[in-house]
Amino acid sequence: FLTLGIESSCDETSAAVVRGGKEVLSNIISSQVDWHRKFGGVVPEIASRKHVELMNPVIDEALAEAGVSFADLSAVAVTFGPGLVGGLLVGISAAKSIAYAHDIPLVAVNHIEGHIYANFISHPELEPPVVCLTVSGGHTDLLYFEDLGDYEIIGRTIDDAAGEAFDKVARVMEAGFPGGPAIDKLAKKGDPEAIDLPRPMINDSSYDFSFSGLKTAVLNYINNTKQRGEEINKADLAASFQQAVVDVLTAKIMRAADDKGVDNVLLSGGVAANSQLREQLQEKLEEQGKELYYPETRICTDNAAMIASAGYFNWQQNQEAAGYDLNAEPNLQLGE
Ligand code: ATP
Ligand code: MG
Ligand code: FE
Repeated sequence: FLTLGIESSCDETSAAVVRGGKEVLSNIISSQVDWHRKFGGVVPEIASRKHVELMNPVIDEALAEAGVSFADLSAVAVTFGPGLVGGLLVGISAAKSIAYAHDIPLVAVNHIEGHIYANFISHPELEPPVVCLTVSGGHTDLLYFEDLGDYEIIGRTIDDAAGEAFDKVARVMEAGFPGGPAIDKLAKKGDPEAIDLPRPMINDSSYDFSFSGLKTAVLNYINNTKQRGEEINKADLAASFQQAVVDVLTAKIMRAADDKGVDNVLLSGGVAANSQLREQLQEKLEEQGKELYYPETRICTDNAAMIASAGYFNWQQNQEAAGYDLNAEPNLQLGE
């Protein structure tokens, strides 16, 4: 069973061929970062146009690298939300054309569910029940599930996503774009205890998160330091900010794993690439005989292999193809 996956929800144009649900034959990711860098963020209109340009060549390359043709495909899986509507529509149109022309099922995939499946590609032996933190540019969701496809959201951010906080803080610090990897790198040369920053909601009894106050604290620190005519030590600021985020995420995950009585904890989404988060969480979980899993770095951020994988398992579970009237759902929630 060969699934072609298509992903275009943000600024990566990606296509992949996956055999079964876990064997990645190709995973072509064309990132548009160079076109968005000078704006310090993803510009939706530019992203849509680039997806139009890149979609066909990226699909052709995915098929070529996998050594298959359209006729060999068993299904086509596409992200239909959440994400930027213009980009989503480009992927959905491409997927519909392929499904129609080759008479194969069109499977609609939730992007966030895709991020979760990246873990099962990197760790094929992994089995629920698990606690999973999906932490990306647009989401910070703490999930518990006993079965794939049936997710209980036990906590989420009440304002900014963690990845969004990384990106915004990197922007005000002029640390580079995209922000997460830039801060991760800078932080390695800094002192995480140099600057005292808040750990929002760390002692709150819920599993919810909040990052906008932390972002404001960083902004105030920068303004106050400048006003005093002092230099900002970017490495120390990056390390201190990152430590604050990681402390909060770690505390809530540890409590959730304990309350739910699970031995396996997963990270998914772009921020799962963060080295400090991985290290600190691994250490804390190990002390309790629990295990941490995260996808290999290349598939933490947006890619089509995770979409093909999620599509394959959805199709196996309910044999439900989407109609040709499938539309983009920019605000799609997990479980909808
Ligand atoms: P969503 O998946 O919620 O729709 P998205 O697709 O834009 O949002 P992803 O592609 O999953 O998000 O991840 C991108 C985010 O991950 C960005 O916010 C980026 O800064 C962050 N990120 C990537 N690498 C790292 C890292 N090493 N440390 C921290 N953050 C990182
Ligand atoms: Mg991106
Ligand atoms: Fe994503």
